[in-house]
Amino acid sequence: MSLTLTDVTLTYPDGDTRLTALDRVSLHVPAGTVTAVIGPSGSGKSSLLAVAATLVTPDGGSVAIGGATTEGLTRGGLAALRRHRIGIVFQQPNLLPALTAVEQLQVVAGLVGHRPAKALPRALDLLDAVGLADHADRRPHQLSGGQRQRVNVARALMNDPAVLLVDEPTSALDHERGAAVVDLITRLTRLRATATVLVTHDRSHLAAVDSVATIHDGRLTA
Ligand code: ADP
Ligand code: MG
Repeated sequence: MSLTLTDVTLTYPDGDTRLTALDRVSLHVPAGTVTAVIGPSGSGKSSLLAVAATLVTPDGGSVAIGGATTEGLTRGGLAALRRHRIGIVFQQPNLLPALTAVEQLQVVAGLVGHRPAKALPRALDLLDAVGLADHADRRPHQLSGGQRQRVNVARALMNDPAVLLVDEPTSALDHERGAAVVDLITRLTRLRATATVLVTHDRSHLAAVDSVATIHDGRLTA
């Protein structure tokens, strides 16, 4: 399924006025493709992902997944949409310290009503896909930064989302590890046919993506 943002404007309160974080942003991401969004710090990248993730309701404009707009959905409807259709990879992996890699993924399956035991084969399959088949029983403190970020990517794919939103996944990694994570995201996007938005401020990883958009002061240009 595709992801489409149409004419999205988002403002935040800023003293007596409002700060425009997104200024009539439109973006179409077909299924099975990666669009990279690059821009300096404070340009609106995370705001764009928050709107696409339906975590924030814009002042104007719309978000559609598979052509179906999210307008008019209740809070519960949006939460269900996020659990079933949207995978989010934040900058920091935020893994639970007490759980093993495979358990991090099983917990997410539990959120959509699957029994953890039933989710085990898929969780192991995804860890294999991110190159961590041998690390399924390791806890976060037993993984490197790059490995934790790969668990984070696998976890985001656990419920087979239509849309994958990734916020600066390489910022805590060295260049080589960062490139490997971007390659992984590109490969899994094709394999799982997700509509992927990859936010980064690092242009050096972008050879493999399908399109690149630039954002400055909330204005997106293709
Ligand atoms: P980026 O991810 O590109 O660094 P952000 O989307 O986080 O940019 O921020 C865009 C602008 O909106 C910045 O000026 C930031 O300070 C402001 N901003 C972000 N989140 C909030 C918020 N929750 N409340 C008020 N202002 C915010
Ligand atoms: Mg950001």
